Amino acid sequence: MSLPQLLSDPIIGIDLGTTNSLVAFSDAAGPRVLCNEAGERMIASAVRYSNGAAVAVGCDARRSAAEYPAETVLSSKRLMGRSYDEARARTGGEVSQLCAGARGLAAIRAGGATLLPQEVAAVILRELRRIAEVQLGVSVRRAVITVPAYFDDGQRQATRDAARLAGLDAVRIVNEPTAAALAYGIGARGRSETIAVYDFGGGTFDISILQVIPDGGSGDGDLFRVLSTAGDTHLGGDDIDELLARHIARDGARELESVADEPTRALRDRAESTKITLSLRESVDIEFETSDGTRNACSVTRATFDGLIRPLVQRTIDACARAMRDGGSPAIDRVVMVGGSTRIPLVRQLVSEFFALEPYTAVDPDLVVALGAAVQASVLRGDRRDVLLLDVIPLSLGIETVGGAVAKLLMRNAMIPARATELFSTSVDNQTSVRLQVVQGEREMACDCRSLATFELRGLPAMPAGIPQVEVAFLVDANGVLQVSAVERRSGCRASVQVVPSYGLTVEEIERIEAESLVHARSDMHHHRVVDLAVNCALDIKWIEEALAKTRSELSEPYVTKVEALLAQLREFVGAARATPHEVDADAFFAAKDLLDRASMHLHETSIARSLREMSIPTKESIP
Ligand code: AMP
Repeated sequence: MSLPQLLSDPIIGIDLGTTNSLVAFSDAAGPRVLCNEAGERMIASAVRYSNGAAVAVGCDARRSAAEYPAETVLSSKRLMGRSYDEARARTGGEVSQLCAGARGLAAIRAGGATLLPQEVAAVILRELRRIAEVQLGVSVRRAVITVPAYFDDGQRQATRDAARLAGLDAVRIVNEPTAAALAYGIGARGRSETIAVYDFGGGTFDISILQVIPDGGSGDGDLFRVLSTAGDTHLGGDDIDELLARHIARDGARELESVADEPTRALRDRAESTKITLSLRESVDIEFETSDGTRNACSVTRATFDGLIRPLVQRTIDACARAMRDGGSPAIDRVVMVGGSTRIPLVRQLVSEFFALEPYTAVDPDLVVALGAAVQASVLRGDRRDVLLLDVIPLSLGIETVGGAVAKLLMRNAMIPARATELFSTSVDNQTSVRLQVVQGEREMACDCRSLATFELRGLPAMPAGIPQVEVAFLVDANGVLQVSAVERRSGCRASVQVVPSYGLTVEEIERIEAESLVHARSDMHHHRVVDLAVNCALDIKWIEEALAKTRSELSEPYVTKVEALLAQLREFVGAARATPHEVDADAFFAAKDLLDRASMHLHETSIARSLREMSIPTKESIP
């Protein structure tokens, strides 16, 4: 791992979540989430106590929660800074260890200890601080910590107290939706904007409407004003899992004509993995075991799943409508998605329909708040943030084509916002899906560029190679977010993906990539030309072979011999281009293709004439 140079007194960004917490750091290469020794980025917000002391924190504590229910504290954030009465009313008795602490505050009894929620949070924060110190190799004393937009002063103060107990100075408490906006560079360009942050996680849903008021030269940074918030503290991915688990149990029971079970923990876990797969696939086959040990199977389609969860997702949209009304129904410029449940296609669809905008999904919705906290930390530290502030596309953007070459759609230094479209087709008969790899860089072959994303256009109707028309569109908006969409014109099949191309790039890296492209320019161009020739010739050879097989009886022997000889020559070039492209003489290759093109003209005419004869409608005379 490359460490930042001469790092001293860093400020880390912390997303202190209800279920998971994350720590991130931002340097010249942009923000990144730091992992613990097990490679985990999401640290469960769980602590296990024994004999009055914390003995496990994070994923270890979460994994053993079923074994030590009375000793493990989960979701303590729900109690942060609340009075006992308030906490009891709000959590509906869900936190079983809840008790009255000093001054009527909500406290938790676990493993022989009576704890304030901020003491539990301090254990989590101390663990995040430790992870950062191991990863950065220096001592860490300062942090930016995020809280929900609706947290009141008491809850914010409790968060600061937790930081202090963990040996951290909370230099700024930032609203979670503001952090999400910062991760996208919103507000960094001095524009006034109104944004909606839709946060749908595992257990809660929040919608915030924010107004970004530019700095105006004071140097204090942009102001993110919360116009309104709405949400549901008991609506999230867990409810979706429950619905799906019940559906699976019912469906299986119908097959067996038995009585449906209450979904077990194992079935809920299966439901969650089925849900996650359904975000990518149209249907999932599952096998499961009922509580009496009977093996069962059923299949869930995306359509069934969507029908099942629609009322639940609609509740989030109703909350969006409330927040919009409360915020004075402002015109929304952007929608930012936060939380794992925003990966569900129906969620994305209903949100984009409600706001009539394509929501931002480019940054991982689980990491976006922590990344934004790290961005805020780097701004406070006074680090330069040139990478995200570029107003031009730093490196060309394109897609990989058959054979591994790059078709560049947007060239480096194009001003943003920028847009480009290009038509592509398939290379194999009856291809029903096309894989699109989005790349960034100045080199001619995709393997020498940086891969930004891969996505698939599925469900194409079977057609001969070269017939489908896949229109690929690149759009880089004012915040530098790239949206790539592909649509097959005949069938209307579409797919899209979003990325932030500037993430992870430093100015030096951009310069190095550019310099490398100049060194390799000549050989890269040759490689690209040979690969393109090979792809085109392979299609030509296939068509000529087919036409020759159909019309051979109508052609003269010497003509057939000549075409076959030229075909053999071109096949050799294609073979060599695939094996050792750098050694192929591109001009000779092109000349061989040109010769065959000319020679096959007569063959194509004969073939077309034959097809027309076969298609011709019988004349009156031929009717008996
Ligand atoms: P968060 O609280 O933001 O960590 O979100 C966690 C929730 O997101 C859990 O309910 C997960 O099951 C859900 N989730 C994570 N990935 C996906 C996915 N690909 N599709 C649907 N839900 C997901």
